[in-house]
Amino acid sequence: QNKLNPLSRHTKNSAALFEKAKKVIPGGVTANIKYMAPHPIMMEKGHGSRLIDVDANEYIDYLLCYGALILGHGHSRVYEAAMNQMKKAGTTIFGTPHRLETVLAEKLISLFPGIEMVRYTNSGLEATLLAIRTAAAYTGKPKIAKFEGHYHGGYDQVLLSVNPEIDMAGDETEPDVVPESPGIPDYYRKNTVILPFNDIDATETILRNRAHEISAIIMEPVQGGFIPADEIFMTKLREITEELGILLIFDEVKTGFRLTVGGAQNLYHIKPDLTALGKVLGGGFPVGAVGGKKEIMEISAPDGGRDILTAGAENGSKKDPLFHSGTYNGHPTVLASGLATIEVLEEEGTMEALLADTALLRSGLEDIYKCHDIPMQTVGKGSIFNIILAEGSIRNYRDMAKANSTLRSKIDYELLKLGIYTKPLNRYSMSAVHSREDIERTLDAHDKAIKIIRK
Ligand code: PLP
Repeated sequence: QNKLNPLSRHTKNSAALFEKAKKVIPGGVTANIKYMAPHPIMMEKGHGSRLIDVDANEYIDYLLCYGALILGHGHSRVYEAAMNQMKKAGTTIFGTPHRLETVLAEKLISLFPGIEMVRYTNSGLEATLLAIRTAAAYTGKPKIAKFEGHYHGGYDQVLLSVNPEIDMAGDETEPDVVPESPGIPDYYRKNTVILPFNDIDATETILRNRAHEISAIIMEPVQGGFIPADEIFMTKLREITEELGILLIFDEVKTGFRLTVGGAQNLYHIKPDLTALGKVLGGGFPVGAVGGKKEIMEISAPDGGRDILTAGAENGSKKDPLFHSGTYNGHPTVLASGLATIEVLEEEGTMEALLADTALLRSGLEDIYKCHDIPMQTVGKGSIFNIILAEGSIRNYRDMAKANSTLRSKIDYELLKLGIYTKPLNRYSMSAVHSREDIERTLDAHDKAIKIIRK
């Protein structure tokens, strides 16, 4: 039994709940990524850096809701902000414009060099979708380009060439377009161009050949939150896209607030035309936002913004604004939590300590694997990293094939039993509330896990 279920002795209640869930929820999970064999661990409580499951096991949490919880679980300032907002307003949501939308927009404009105006959405997915539609409407060109292995949310237009294990196809310098899921209309395969990440020469060749039909490139400045774009790659990409009239969309759903408070664009000194945000921005509630250049963003203004309607009317062809909608967009409780989160991050020393602690954990882990003679490197930027059991540089997802994922997975299952939570093979996200003691315990657990496996 224990062999079949690497967790069974520890997570009986989780296993039982999962059996019940499977009867009413396909696969027992409400997002496929939340599945793990033999069953997910069902959580019941969280505090600070910790999660507690339905069997009363406590874990140091490095998943942090896929990076969203940069201040950990139940941070008092975030809680108070949400509660106070609801008390003050006497309701959860107005369903009308309100003051906080502008306050948070002003904050984002002050932090992100590429943001001059903001629209809110309810998820990162909706943010990248709106950014892509905005780019298509603004440029009038039919296709988008994305990088192989980059994830921008679970919808048809971007669920192409995402998964490193199954989707990497075609020549490395000219990747094929591979749908990530059944059910994606062929239209998107035909209207998407896949680019090779961190290969500027190959990227430039493709872009020069197809500039007339590409409205925008959407990219993660740090792929999967842990494989950074080379600086020279990024600088040249910005130059080429400007020259060719292709918009550059930074998907900072993961990197926003995690590399610097103002995202990857501050670190790379690049102004993208549009930026998608999410995760940390909601302080643990569902959220997304698109920010960008005023001239581009204003195409969604119903009153005409930069005179789009009146200009159209003058020459007799009234132009409609870009369609953007959402019942819960700009939810006041969510925005209050997000604003409180950003304010804590902006306090002197918070980001510095978070980045220093992440570096400490990474170097400690590298030392342990070295002591055990296991080829390993941590790959990351800012407060997210991944453990790669391989030597040699990791500059895109094809490089990830070098990694020993079998050993990594075995270690991850042992770590779960030792109270370290991340989904097997997932990246590590740090929070500002992980303590030095947490780091020590994590290092010790890795050492123990490796010893157990090698016994
Ligand atoms: N873009 C990136 C870079 C992401 O990492 C994610 C989610 O992991 C998304 C977009 C989609 O965000 P959401 O899950 O909030 O829809």
